[in-house]
Amino acid sequence: MANVELKNLTKKYGDVVAVQNMDLSIPHNEFLVLVGPSGCGKSTTLRMIAGLEEITSGEIYIGDQLVNEKDPKDRNVSMVFQNYALYPHMTVKENLGFSLRIAKVDKKEIEQRVKEAVQILGLDELQKRKPSQLSGGQRQRVAMGRAIVRNPKVFLFDEPLSNLDAKLRGQVRIEIKKLQRSMNVTSVFVTHDQVEAMTLGDRLAVINNGIIEQIGTPIEVYETPKTLFVAEFIGTPKMNFINGKIKNQKFVAGKTEVSSNHLPDNDKAILGFRPEDLIVDNNGKFLLNVEIIEKLGADSLIYGTDQNQNLLCLRVNGNTKINVNEKINLSVSEDKYHFFDATNNIRLN
Ligand code: ADP
Repeated sequence: MANVELKNLTKKYGDVVAVQNMDLSIPHNEFLVLVGPSGCGKSTTLRMIAGLEEITSGEIYIGDQLVNEKDPKDRNVSMVFQNYALYPHMTVKENLGFSLRIAKVDKKEIEQRVKEAVQILGLDELQKRKPSQLSGGQRQRVAMGRAIVRNPKVFLFDEPLSNLDAKLRGQVRIEIKKLQRSMNVTSVFVTHDQVEAMTLGDRLAVINNGIIEQIGTPIEVYETPKTLFVAEFIGTPKMNFINGKIKNQKFVAGKTEVSSNHLPDNDKAILGFRPEDLIVDNNGKFLLNVEIIEKLGADSLIYGTDQNQNLLCLRVNGNTKINVNEKINLSVSEDKYHFFDATNNIRLN
């Protein structure tokens, strides 16, 4: 059992503030994903939890124990890295048992724990191979096995899927999810890939410039982004945005007007709506001049500009009859509008 608590955690590299006053409470057994663009401070946060990076200020608790001063080996965490970090001259089996041999764990106990990891990860037939004789996905599985044998209280994953091709990434993603479910271990997973974040996380912490902008379940974050950054970062293709004003409960952008019930007047507002929330509707307020159609099979993405020259994207079904250069009217159901204040980027509705 181990919850992880970060309290007012800050990391500075000289003038660069990599992580700023971060508060995060991860309950036991949760799979939490730290997600954000490159350089936002995800890895630094993870490395501070692991004890690989000194903290500038704040506190880290693992299982209610303050670990600020503890060595990495005494924190009961196992880290899985992007580059696998396997020893090339050792077999899979030797790689799996290595950290336990260093920790002088009893030989029989090592055998037993390696056997368990081999079973969990389906590595039976690969035990005698060296890393160079494994595929990328298999190497990643061995790297996870090395983390498992240590019976950690917390798994820390640092972009472990980045070196895999897209198909394998999908497969290993499912394996990681199953593994975490079966092992009941608190996990913190770092990624810049929002699809990975949405599919793996019980909750996501979306980070921007060293600050958590939102913490929530994937659906909460997707359906109710609290900031413009989160709205833009989560979702592919990204949310459509239109700049305008809110006056007398109406959002006005050029010739377009939509109702913005219960919102105060605002001279610099942004209206957002997702591509799948646009509906082809003869009475719709958005007139789209279709410029590009991407047919992806299951669905199609239609890109164009509206009457105010805003770029918009619409998601429709795969066998759409819409053509390039067509003009179509679109509407959005009112409960799918996202309004933001363009001055501080905070959600208004
Ligand atoms: P992410 O994992 O989100 O890509 P990092 O945590 O690696 O981001 O980095 C956060 C910020 O801290 C970046 O601006 C990065 O350049 C800076 N940084 C990371 N490590 C160092 C270091 N050792 N020295 C100076 N700056 C660093």
